[in-house]
Amino acid sequence: MALIVQKFGGTSVGTIERIRNVAARAVADYNAGNQVVVVVSAMSGETNKLVALIEGVAAFYNKREYDVVVAAGEQVSIGLLAAAIESMGYKARSYLGWQVRFITDSAFSKARIKEVEAFRIRKDLEDGYIVVVAGFQGIDELGNLTTLGRGGSDTSAVAVAAALKADRCDIYTDVDGVYTTDPRIVSKARKLDHISYDEMLEMASLGAKVLQIRSVELAKKYRVPLRVLSSLEEGTGTLLTEENHMMENILVSGITYDRNEAKVTIQGVPDKPGIAAAVFGALADANINVDMIIQNVSASSGETDLTFTVPRGDHKMAIKVLEPVVAQIGARSLLGNVEIAKVSAVGVGMRSHAGVAQRMFRALSQEGINIQMISTSEIKVSVVIDEKYMELAVRALHDAFELEKGAEGRIAS
Ligand code: ASP
Ligand code: MG
Repeated sequence: MALIVQKFGGTSVGTIERIRNVAARAVADYNAGNQVVVVVSAMSGETNKLVALIEGVAAFYNKREYDVVVAAGEQVSIGLLAAAIESMGYKARSYLGWQVRFITDSAFSKARIKEVEAFRIRKDLEDGYIVVVAGFQGIDELGNLTTLGRGGSDTSAVAVAAALKADRCDIYTDVDGVYTTDPRIVSKARKLDHISYDEMLEMASLGAKVLQIRSVELAKKYRVPLRVLSSLEEGTGTLLTEENHMMENILVSGITYDRNEAKVTIQGVPDKPGIAAAVFGALADANINVDMIIQNVSASSGETDLTFTVPRGDHKMAIKVLEPVVAQIGARSLLGNVEIAKVSAVGVGMRSHAGVAQRMFRALSQEGINIQMISTSEIKVSVVIDEKYMELAVRALHDAFELEKGAEGRIAS
């Protein structure tokens, strides 16, 4: 007998018929001899409607009241699902976040879970119930309702799984797993059977939006075996685990892209202490996150060029904030470029094998793609290129690392 946590997103509970399907899936795992906890989101579109309501009522509203309003969608879906399970002749019980209880901090609209008191759930499971839990919501230490940020039900599910020491946490969604890259760009993209937590964190933060990032961080911390699979078709999905031997033999697991950054270059910066502090201090004061940074000193002129990336939405603000700084430090010019894209190769195999960056640069050069910036970490190589070559670059790299082949086909030499 295993303890399984299943999570279903908004699409999967979007209609009465789909809720019945979810009930059937929960019952199937229960009948196979397992204890089953189901975490659900609001029916699709409901949370957006609630957000529009609170935004419509006042230009400035308290985030506490935002949470009270937007948490309402999940109350409907848990009640409906529990009723659907009961109508099939099984025992079911639904719980809101505060009833479980998910104890969070008081950062309304983006609260973090501190603790899950799962004793009520445990008792119900022992008594033969299928337990249905509202995702996305919790309660702070003062008794205020909180929510975990959009997409937060993934995190609720992993937190419950960790608290119950579940054998598995299955995240059912509208895709059938995690892919080597975006199948809309590379039709040969392949579903991965396994991926490590660290790779998934890189892929998620680089724009592959399958899971809320926090849920992966939590799964990694508590070693929750997490599976992503389709609620619409049969399949085994993708299993997220710690690194294993097989992964070490694979150089690169996926190619990701990100169009949400913009580039800023400050030219002709005097080469002396304090410049980087002035530039990045001004950006930090404006709450602008900087991602890649490149600085290089020209030996002959004693000047440097400083280039970095910021979120595209913050680009105008970054230029505005930096204009006085550039004048003050005596730099020659300030340039911006929003037409860039970041393309990355991600894989834990890079930890133990050299040559990934080189293979990546060669593949891009063969396509005549100019690399504007490069950054590397233990398990990732990223390049910034002209946005108009992004899809070409993703395809070229997918080919260069032979990602269309399974693990057997591409053991690193
Ligand atoms: N219903 C919430 C949202 O739409 C939480 C979730 O779906 O995970 O963001
Ligand atoms: Mg979701």
